[in-house]
Amino acid sequence: AEAQARQGQKMEAIGQLSGGVAHDFNNMLAIIMGSLHVAKRRLERGDTDVVQFLDGALEGAGRAAGLTQRLLAFSRKQPLTPEVADMNALVRGLDELLRRSLGETVRLELALGGGLWRTRVDKGQVENALVNLAINARDAMPDGGKLTIETMNAFLDDAYASAHDEVTPGQYVLLAVSDAGVGMTRKVMERAFDPFFTTKDAGKGTGLGLSQVYGFVKQSGGHIKIYSEPGQGTTIKIYLARHYGEGEVRADVVLDAEVPMG
Ligand code: ADP
Repeated sequence: AEAQARQGQKMEAIGQLSGGVAHDFNNMLAIIMGSLHVAKRRLERGDTDVVQFLDGALEGAGRAAGLTQRLLAFSRKQPLTPEVADMNALVRGLDELLRRSLGETVRLELALGGGLWRTRVDKGQVENALVNLAINARDAMPDGGKLTIETMNAFLDDAYASAHDEVTPGQYVLLAVSDAGVGMTRKVMERAFDPFFTTKDAGKGTGLGLSQVYGFVKQSGGHIKIYSEPGQGTTIKIYLARHYGEGEVRADVVLDAEVPMG
């Protein structure tokens, strides 16, 4: 029954995906066809002033190409190359790129935990995820504000695991991205991970950012959770399992680590 439910969810996601793509694609085709149509009519009556319409068609085609690119990147079960990673070093290495993508008005603050455990993860995917989350935070703070990236050791206990799907209790490295932006309503929060779900204007949002992040975290055996309040801001927490190096002992309980509530 569980496998069936999962299959059902998969079919639903594919349905949403193809519905969303068909819709966006139609819009782009309409632009291309409309522009070519005008150009053709003009040429037929001897008017050669058509460059702007051909440009319009090219732009529409460019956007359609961009969409298929993103779709391919999304649907390809990208094989992950997990490596033992120090999350603090990863975040520090991205500092420059993140600051550049955040622009002038959004300040980036790093709060990197000491004695951080290591994790085994695809570094490129972590970077991708952080850039996606940072851009969402920037969009959520049109008048500027502070974006915080935090790392710390975390322990997910039995109570937390039984309250959340597919969470194994144990030790995790927590990566939290917080903004003081517009926040999400409950409805938006419920759909935020759905592919092609976006509340942004056409051309601004693709609705693929969070679904990509979700896919990567799940594929890595991790856990992701959104905390958000309209008007207050959003925190996205990503938990990646602790990697035990040689000589490191597995402990069931950990002091000195955050235990999330709820
Ligand atoms: P996109 O950013 O292209 O819309 P995403 O999948 O990244 O696609 O996000 C889906 C939706 O979730 C966004 O359109 C927005 O409504 C909401 N969202 C994501 N991140 C945030 C955030 N930090 N603050 C408020 N809303 C957010």
